[in-house]
Amino acid sequence: MIPTILPTYSRAPMSFVKGEGSWLVEADGRRFLDLGAGIAVNALGHAHPALVAALTDQAGALWHTSNLYQIPKQQELADKLTAHTFADTVFFTNSGTESCELAVKMARKYWFDKDQPERTEIITFSGSFHGRSAAGIAAAGSEKMTKGFGPLLPGFVHLEFGDHDALTAAITENTAAILIEPVQGEGGIRPVPDQCLKGLRDLCDEHGILLILDEVQCGVGRTGRLFAHEWAGISPDIMMVAKGIGGGFPLGAVLATEEAASGMTAGTHGSTYGGNPLGCAVGCAVMDVIADRDFLAEVNRKAGLLRQKLEGLIAAHPDVFESVRGSGLMLGIRCRAANTDIVAAGYASEVLTVPAADNVIRLLPALTISDNEIAEAVSRLDAAATAVSAA
Ligand SMILES: *Cc1c(COP(=O)(O)O)cnc(C)c1O
Repeated sequence: MIPTILPTYSRAPMSFVKGEGSWLVEADGRRFLDLGAGIAVNALGHAHPALVAALTDQAGALWHTSNLYQIPKQQELADKLTAHTFADTVFFTNSGTESCELAVKMARKYWFDKDQPERTEIITFSGSFHGRSAAGIAAAGSEKMTKGFGPLLPGFVHLEFGDHDALTAAITENTAAILIEPVQGEGGIRPVPDQCLKGLRDLCDEHGILLILDEVQCGVGRTGRLFAHEWAGISPDIMMVAKGIGGGFPLGAVLATEEAASGMTAGTHGSTYGGNPLGCAVGCAVMDVIADRDFLAEVNRKAGLLRQKLEGLIAAHPDVFESVRGSGLMLGIRCRAANTDIVAAGYASEVLTVPAADNVIRLLPALTISDNEIAEAVSRLDAAATAVSAA
């Protein structure tokens, strides 16, 4: 008999009833150190007081009105996001994949309005992940995500990640945009080197192509900058955001320049819930904490500490771990043992990590993780690695 929850996930047996910062607690009091943060969603950990206050204050005042009316919290969040980024304008969504949908529509509409309606193709890369909507799976293009769901949305050109020659060769008069994650998340924490992001920007400028960055996982302070592309000193034309921006409340956004967004006039797009007062109240509180020099400096300091300890961990378990990669507090350990075995052993040691492609375990802790918690995390990972070695 089919479970009453559609069985699209194979779930671990833990069941949490409470969260406190970097900790998740089961009903019997068992405490897990959370290095997954709900897959980079709980950027400020669990039950951050500023987020709890923002949500409960808004919940007592007004939940929802629709986008038929002015939404002051939405305006406030749009103003914060544009003040801190390349963007001139923001559309709010409820998830990453909805941000992908709009990014694709926006790029196509841009060229349609420029009297180049044939420019519909979007170049994407192997190992990418852009969500599970029809555009999201077609954009990523992997068999794992698309098999059985055809016919797929046309208009995506899939290239090997890191193949520069293939990229230059793939650009035609039909190319509308290039879509890329500055740091691949699901693909195994694979950063695009700064030089390559710069090269992509130049290539786009040369051919008048739009650059769309998917910062759903790597954005909002995760890499130690507010958005990951800042490390390369470039800016996109369109950027997809979600996950961390809501700190656990379902919230996403598409940020764009005035030029890239020029086709999106009244009636061309919409969302019932997107930018609703509850989500935007939380988003404002998240931005107030994270878009702060001192906060981001701390993220970078702690990232250095964690990375250094992970190098030691890997050296101590060469049969289990191979190397660490990533940026800021978005780290991946490439494993020699099966990544899923290590994640499972972590459960026994009460530390939560997230598997990714390329036999990687992802560490995406709350950006607020403390030095002591970093030390504790590495000691629990050490216990998990010892258990995997012995098995
Ligand atoms: C998670 C993710 C998405 C999809 O976000 P949802 O909120 O699950 O729809 C898209 N892009 C990237 C890079 C992601 O990590």
